[in-house]
Amino acid sequence: MKRGNLSIHTENIFPIIKKFLYSDQEVFLRELVSNAVDATQKLKTLASRGEFKGELGDLTIEVIIDANAKTLTVRDRGIGMTGEEVEKYINQIAFSSAEEFLAKYKDSPNQIIGHFGLGFYSAFMVAQKVEIYTLSYQEGASAVRWSCEGNTEFELEETIKADRGTDVVLYISSEHEEFLKNYRIEEILKKYCRFLPIEIKFDGKIINDTNPLWRRPPTEITENEYKEFYSKLYPFSEPPLFWVHLNVDYPFTLTGILYFPKIKPNVELQKDKIQLYANQVFITDDVSDIVPDYLNLLHGVLDSPDIPLNVSRSYLQTDSNVRKISSHISKKVADKLYELFRENRQAFQEKWSSIGIFVKYGMIRDNNFYEKASNFCLYMNVDKQYFTIEEYKNKVAEKQTNKDGEIVLLYATDLLAQHSYIQAAQKRGYDVLLFDSIIDLHFIQYIEHRLENCKIARVDADTLDKLIDKGIQKASLLNEQEEKELKELYEKFINRPMVTVNCQPLGEEEMPVTIVRPEHQRRMQDMANMGLLGDSKLPDMYQVVLNTSHPLAKRILLSPEGPAREKLIRQTYDLARLSQNMLTGGELTNFIEESLRLITNSN
Ligand code: ADP
Repeated sequence: MKRGNLSIHTENIFPIIKKFLYSDQEVFLRELVSNAVDATQKLKTLASRGEFKGELGDLTIEVIIDANAKTLTVRDRGIGMTGEEVEKYINQIAFSSAEEFLAKYKDSPNQIIGHFGLGFYSAFMVAQKVEIYTLSYQEGASAVRWSCEGNTEFELEETIKADRGTDVVLYISSEHEEFLKNYRIEEILKKYCRFLPIEIKFDGKIINDTNPLWRRPPTEITENEYKEFYSKLYPFSEPPLFWVHLNVDYPFTLTGILYFPKIKPNVELQKDKIQLYANQVFITDDVSDIVPDYLNLLHGVLDSPDIPLNVSRSYLQTDSNVRKISSHISKKVADKLYELFRENRQAFQEKWSSIGIFVKYGMIRDNNFYEKASNFCLYMNVDKQYFTIEEYKNKVAEKQTNKDGEIVLLYATDLLAQHSYIQAAQKRGYDVLLFDSIIDLHFIQYIEHRLENCKIARVDADTLDKLIDKGIQKASLLNEQEEKELKELYEKFINRPMVTVNCQPLGEEEMPVTIVRPEHQRRMQDMANMGLLGDSKLPDMYQVVLNTSHPLAKRILLSPEGPAREKLIRQTYDLARLSQNMLTGGELTNFIEESLRLITNSN
């Protein structure tokens, strides 16, 4: 038997391993099973090259709990190690890499959590003693036993082991007995080892799928297989809309399948997340630093050994591989969307309510994505027809170009509340888009700056003549003095500080009085409603426009002061408020009664 000391620097290592990795101890099993998989794959490689001529036999890796002995064993039939190799790989290399790793993260233990790097020595997070029994595949090798009790001393001796390969035996310490429970080990294996490439047996069952779908050539995979795989990943979710299979090996390695889920409008936070693997070993389902945030709306798996895992998050975002991977993914996703759009536009449109949120979010966040998505981002009008931006501009250019040569895109956010404004616009041959999801508010603000030669305005933001100002003056029935008097009459009647009144000749066919909310006022109010301006409540702000082309304007002005004139003023103003949904309760009742009286009298 050989006894020895691991290294002179190492006294502090074990306490640090135990303390720093506290919250993510379960990863020890991932590390040990990954080592077993590596050892098995190495043997398979040697066999395929003819360098190993023996029988491979059953290569299943086993994880075994012995509740009486309080041990957990990871057993493989891989290449094994000779005595010298144990000294080299376990005593020296494994240990010095563990040491190096910890030195690097001494001051920021949180960064270690969930990341690779500690390897074999993470066993000491949960075991008071670890033994290795191993027999190398090499001819004439003898088996060795290595043992260490979580201090700097180790033992190494020859032993008897019939079978090729390695048993790593963990004597689980008393405070970690959860790792002797079947359900717990099964849970960990299913989380980290579910798609490992060598069969892993636990409690009589194989727990993994050794050839996961993302590793197979896309041409061989049926639609059903893609769907089945999705439901394996997310058992409680609705089927996906479609998917993108990623498969790159240069200049970085990346495989994976990204699924487009059905997104409900006004999504809450997603519970299903993209899972990140490195060579089929599960790493994390928090990919927020690796893929652009709008891609986080997608589901599925990414597998890349080229994403550095034991580095800080801020480093990750500047890592060139990560940047390349992330822009590759967003390009692939954009290409796929464009392909779907071109191949079957009808189907694409039907899915737009889900896809649209994602596309708009992506366009706002990522300039490259914006460029690509401009080809297939759809704009739906109030009649539920879909257009790309180019198609739409062509459609409305003729009628909706203002005197400065800008195309004015009109939109509504609420079909019912803005009904009368939509109608008025349509009556003039204008088209109105519908922007009614949460993301639209941001999207409009964004594209407003991006679209060239275009203006965007909500249909009730001003009178149509102002919204699409063609520089044509309609005839007014009042002179300047009369306009001033009419304005004062209404101001006195309405008597609200944040409401302004002005006169405009809108044409005889328009309402005598209209209420509009200038775009900037409305956006302020939207923001206040979303709580973005703190607790402050904004008083109602709007503009009352008196149509000086309407015969009623003249009539009101000419009628003598008294209840009859006031009735006309109230009735025309209430009519305007009614079409803005501002008339409720007692005021609405009064309005209806008054209208009835008017009709009755006029007969
Ligand atoms: P890493 O796996 O990152 O190299 P580890 O600390 O996990 O670091 O392991 C160190 C080395 O010990 C491995 O590179 C390998 O050579 C050897 N080793 C660990 N486990 C096994 C095993 N089950 N079979 C054969 N060799 C092993």
